[in-house]
Amino acid sequence: MEAYEAPVRLDGDGRATRDGWAASIVSFASGPRAPHRWAVVAAPGIAVMVGARGVTAGVSPLAHGEHVFIGGEVEAIFSADAHPLPVVDGAPDAACPVCCEPGSAGRRGLFDCPKCPARACDACWAQFPHGRCATPGCDQPAAFDRPLFTAEPGDFWDGLR
Ligand SMILES: [Zn+2]
Ligand SMILES: [Zn+2]
Repeated sequence: MEAYEAPVRLDGDGRATRDGWAASIVSFASGPRAPHRWAVVAAPGIAVMVGARGVTAGVSPLAHGEHVFIGGEVEAIFSADAHPLPVVDGAPDAACPVCCEPGSAGRRGLFDCPKCPARACDACWAQFPHGRCATPGCDQPAAFDRPLFTAEPGDFWDGLR
């Protein structure tokens, strides 16, 4: 098993914390080419539920859209939406297929949609209507400014109250 992103540690209110955490979200894969998976780790003495399941033995797998309850007070919905992915195999100055601008000043490069074949520069992703991939029917969130390796709870939680 390989850990991917730094664990997100949450306090009893569901906010990110560095110490005194109540629950922690960890992302892992069973191999280099295996899909990302997630698990929630409950701190000793903290009641954490995933849906109607108690987190027994401190760890429970977590899937996109599952409801998580921390300490009986906080309910959150886990979100595993991926980010647009940087294109690593293209030429560094390749033109954006959407706006035809060359990859240069002010642009960070080209990004692929993880759900469909769409490819665009970061400026185009930022302008896609409704913050979604421009491909009709593709609901991939266009936001990719969330840093992958310093995950914030907002990367993971929708509808946190
Ligand atoms: Zn573009
Ligand atoms: Zn897409």
